[in-house]
Amino acid sequence: MGPLLPLGAVLLDGFFVHLPGDAVGVPAPGERLGVIHVHTAAGHGSGTLPQVISAARDANLSFLAVTDHNITDNPATLDDPSEFAVIAGNELSTSSGHFLALGVPPNWPSRPSYDARTMLAEAHAAGGVTFLAHPYSKDPWSEWGASDFDGMEIWNEDAVWRRNTVLDLLISAILYPVNNQLAMLRLARTPEPNLAKWDELLAQRPVAGICGADAHAAIHMWHGIVWRFPEYLPVFRLARQHVLLGPHPQGGDPRVASATVILDALKRGHSFCALDAIYPASGFVNEISSSVVTAGSGDFAPWTPNAHLRVIVPSGASLPRIKVYRDGHKIVDKEAWSLDEPLPGPGCYRSEVYLRQPGLTGWHRWTLWIFSNPIYVTASSPAVMAASN
Ligand SMILES: [Zn+2]
Ligand SMILES: [Zn+2]
Repeated sequence: MGPLLPLGAVLLDGFFVHLPGDAVGVPAPGERLGVIHVHTAAGHGSGTLPQVISAARDANLSFLAVTDHNITDNPATLDDPSEFAVIAGNELSTSSGHFLALGVPPNWPSRPSYDARTMLAEAHAAGGVTFLAHPYSKDPWSEWGASDFDGMEIWNEDAVWRRNTVLDLLISAILYPVNNQLAMLRLARTPEPNLAKWDELLAQRPVAGICGADAHAAIHMWHGIVWRFPEYLPVFRLARQHVLLGPHPQGGDPRVASATVILDALKRGHSFCALDAIYPASGFVNEISSSVVTAGSGDFAPWTPNAHLRVIVPSGASLPRIKVYRDGHKIVDKEAWSLDEPLPGPGCYRSEVYLRQPGLTGWHRWTLWIFSNPIYVTASSPAVMAASN
């Protein structure tokens, strides 16, 4: 009798908690949703590229970054503008950890090396954009002295679930057959070490933050048997990168922006990551405005005494908790749907937004919902900024 009561509560949650599914909310002009860090059957994932793209379309995504391990004949094409962009990439395993090289040519690398600095330099030389992958999990990153990576995974789905207890994993395993979206959401944990390291790096230079799905849809059992778990679709519905291209990226239409245009925005930090499975985050606003300039995630702006930071959460969400960090120090922590705060001075400003877990067995735990890329507010005067542009 004892264990039946909690089991019943978990199942009730599974049946009665309705998550938004594929609702996308109201995106800003030029906002595109996608997932980065996907393994296919060309590597050790279980789905072919067309199957993976089909799952991504079902999740209402419009781009995907495919990153099989050390694959040199990636079938994805780069410069082919369409409503669904595939960023060709590669996940490199080095002796110092893994990194993603996105936008590299199909036959790259021709001479793989296990030296992280060599491979980071070669990825850049090949025109790639580089992000450290799961720097605090599995093969943790150890070459922090290397400075030529463009960004890092703050969230990695395959790393985050490992931050749960055995009981949490058990609850999720019971939920999965009934409500796979809620099962995935229950395992969401704040990646504290990644966020702390990000702030440390941001004190030296701009570093773009992303969420990586690390989707395989494959657990390799014994005798070559592959268990397709967790499937691509629930992973693609969970944490997504919202790229902010603006109404006319590079003079074009954001709806058909190419993989190259999307990748450039990712590199510059013109994006935020959101766990859309808890509530659709499209239309989230994180900007600094003054009489001189309006700047969003990834932008540089000169400091002026009348500058304000605005954070606005999409309407309809339950009451969130908004935290704002300036140079790694928390300066705002309040429960509100929006905030408009005077800027205390120059610095690197980024925000995190939390929502409570729905249902009973999430214990209403605050769960990281959105993290923005920083806005860099410089001490330079507007005249100096204009001259340097
Ligand atoms: Zn990896
Ligand atoms: Zn991976």
